[in-house]
Amino acid sequence: MADKKTEKNKQEESKKEECIFCKIASGEIPSDKIADEENFIVIKDIHPVSEGHCLVIPKKHYKTVLDMPSSLGGELINIAKKQGLRLIQEKKADGFKIVQSNFKAAGQVVNHVHFHVIPYKEGKKVGRV
Ligand code: 5GP
Ligand code: ZN
Repeated sequence: MADKKTEKNKQEESKKEECIFCKIASGEIPSDKIADEENFIVIKDIHPVSEGHCLVIPKKHYKTVLDMPSSLGGELINIAKKQGLRLIQEKKADGFKIVQSNFKAAGQVVNHVHFHVIPYKEGKKVGRV
């Protein structure tokens, strides 16, 4: 049992080492950072579906929302609201979506939980999400 746990921990560790969002959060890989908050960063999505599309990412590695402590929920919603408002004010968006995918079947590509904030303009189609 102890061996199994150790093996699982080792696997988790190696996943973190390879994780692009861990590297961005730690500054190992440079990014277009919009905000640096207590437990989250906000970056521009590298392939935006609309101008201003950004990602709210916890600094610690959690694979899906199931792994992320609920105690971070308050800070997360405040950041997502702040970014949504910024998109309306600065990018002249008419609305925005907060989107989050868990596991491959639901479209999760990066296995470090993240929350998309996507601006929408009236009458303008947005692909993918
Ligand atoms: P998912 O489908 O996992 O919710 O979306 C992952 C998102 O991360 C995609 O929108 C993709 O464009 C974005 N992404 C993937 N790699 C990078 C990266 O290295 N830098 C940034 N800024 N965004 C990334
Ligand atoms: Zn990670």
